[in-house]
Amino acid sequence: EELTASQSDGRDGDGASPGVGKVGIGALFPYLRPHLKVLGAVSALSVATATGLLAQPMLIRSVLDGLHAGAAVGGLLLALVLLLLIAGAASAVRDYLLHRTGEGVVLSVRQQLAARMLRLPMPEYDCRRTGDLLARLSSDSTLLRSVVTGGLMELLSGVVVLVGAVALMLVLDPLLFAVTVLGLAGAVGAVAVAQRIQGASTAAQEKLGEMTSATERAISGIRTVRAARAEERETQEINRCARGAYRAGLRIARLRAFVGPLMTSAVQVASLVVLGVGGSRVAAGDMSVGDLVAFVALLFMMMMPILQAVGAYADLQTGLGALRRIEEVLSLAEETADDRRSGPVPVSVDRAAPTGSPAAIEFDGVTFGYDAADPVLREVAFRVPPGSRCALVGPSGGGKSTTLALIERFYDVDRGAVRVDGVDVRDLSRAELRGRIGYVEQDAPVLAGSIRENLLIATPEADDAALMAALRAAQLTELVERSPAGLDAPVGESGALLSGGQRQRLALARTLLTGAPILLLDEPTSNLDARSEHALRQALDAVAEHRTLLIVAHRLATVVDADQIIVFDNGRVVAAGGHDELTRSSSLYHELAAHQLLVR
Ligand code: ADP
Repeated sequence: EELTASQSDGRDGDGASPGVGKVGIGALFPYLRPHLKVLGAVSALSVATATGLLAQPMLIRSVLDGLHAGAAVGGLLLALVLLLLIAGAASAVRDYLLHRTGEGVVLSVRQQLAARMLRLPMPEYDCRRTGDLLARLSSDSTLLRSVVTGGLMELLSGVVVLVGAVALMLVLDPLLFAVTVLGLAGAVGAVAVAQRIQGASTAAQEKLGEMTSATERAISGIRTVRAARAEERETQEINRCARGAYRAGLRIARLRAFVGPLMTSAVQVASLVVLGVGGSRVAAGDMSVGDLVAFVALLFMMMMPILQAVGAYADLQTGLGALRRIEEVLSLAEETADDRRSGPVPVSVDRAAPTGSPAAIEFDGVTFGYDAADPVLREVAFRVPPGSRCALVGPSGGGKSTTLALIERFYDVDRGAVRVDGVDVRDLSRAELRGRIGYVEQDAPVLAGSIRENLLIATPEADDAALMAALRAAQLTELVERSPAGLDAPVGESGALLSGGQRQRLALARTLLTGAPILLLDEPTSNLDARSEHALRQALDAVAEHRTLLIVAHRLATVVDADQIIVFDNGRVVAAGGHDELTRSSSLYHELAAHQLLVR
């Protein structure tokens, strides 16, 4: 229990960002701006229905007083029925338009969130929890809908009804109105209570985010969890978050529950007093029965919108709590915010060399740390000539994968420069740079989906013949021939249905399709069997034609073929050269080779 809790705290950060504090109603405006016309129509309809509502007691009063005086009231009754019908139709149209706007706001928020979530700078993904991001996209955005549908417009029509009812009551009987004002005191208290809902709502959504994260973590690592017999502990962690959401939900429920009866009793007390005082005035002949009935009807009518407005205010606060979490992600800069350094446009690598021809890669005194205070690469320098094959070797944690990440510009160097064909990669847009590179990451180089989907990620326009050719070159045809689904055979979550070697070769096939002149391959650390290894080497030979290859190698079989081997140790390049040369000159390389029984 303690272990899981501290782990989750460590990866969590605090849900709400320091940058986005409590948000006000103005923060909603940008999301409503595209819908202003419809909202205008909705407002007009709201005012119309509110007016219709207010006219009803006045018509009833005329009917009652008319009946009392023995006059014909057929016309009045017909008018009353028509009014009810029109008001009903207007409110139906208004509700539909309102909900359409609400859905529209949710849609655009989701689109913005999705676009931003896939374009954050790499360090954001290193420290954020996937599940928490997911919760913002799915559940927080949903809460914004009720702000539009329930919150804003209920407030507006509430105000109209309230003002109208007060005015009519004053006209009907100022004395009785003075009595009702006493009932309003309770309403003020209710609004104060509703204000506290925003904080409780943010807390509830944060707990939901934690719960999604905990679930995502346990399920994506289900084999580890099972093997460690940690199902119970992980379940408890999920339950702990669920209980947190439950408690925050209860706090909201208590606040809301308190608000309703407070208002209702205020109305009840006020109406009893009004009936008592009004009844005696009717008996004394100072007031007609119609006046009194209309007055009581208006009293209830006035309390209804106050009650609704308090509920709407609660919805608004709930939604603003969710908006705060959404804004926190939307306020993050995109990776491309610092895409190209300013200054003269460099000669593009595409123009420097004919398209598709191999490119040179150069590291010039590169120092880099994920945390600037703690470099993981120090003064790294090497050059990979165009069309050559270069292997990065050395103990794990030495900085080999980081080196590949710098070429892709997943991160930018702290000092020195990474150059492709002589151009500093920071002078290229990331899109242009990445278009030149095929990258095969170490552990999960394929995505959930089918073989076809995985091949088409970078080249959506490739036809089946091209896909089959790429699979052939990658020694993977047996995969599609074996399965009746062929190219549409599923690969499982992160390629779980494939072996480690098949995943790597599928990713290689993908880079073959792109024709990218540079290939970065992070070899899986897991041992491949001799046949998979042979297949991988043949696939690499196919890839190596017309390409510059940079491979993080764990198996010396991959290394002996290389034109150049670079030995990393603890963030520094400690040796470089060919296999035979390094066996003689580098004790670290000799040791690595000896472990794999290639030298004695
Ligand atoms: P290698 O590929 O040689 O095993 P890496 O480049 O993966 O080495 O890692 C070098 C160092 O950087 C290690 O100490 C590792 O803990 C750290 N590191 C790797 N990736 C990250 C990351 N995304 N955030 C912070 N530190 C990292």
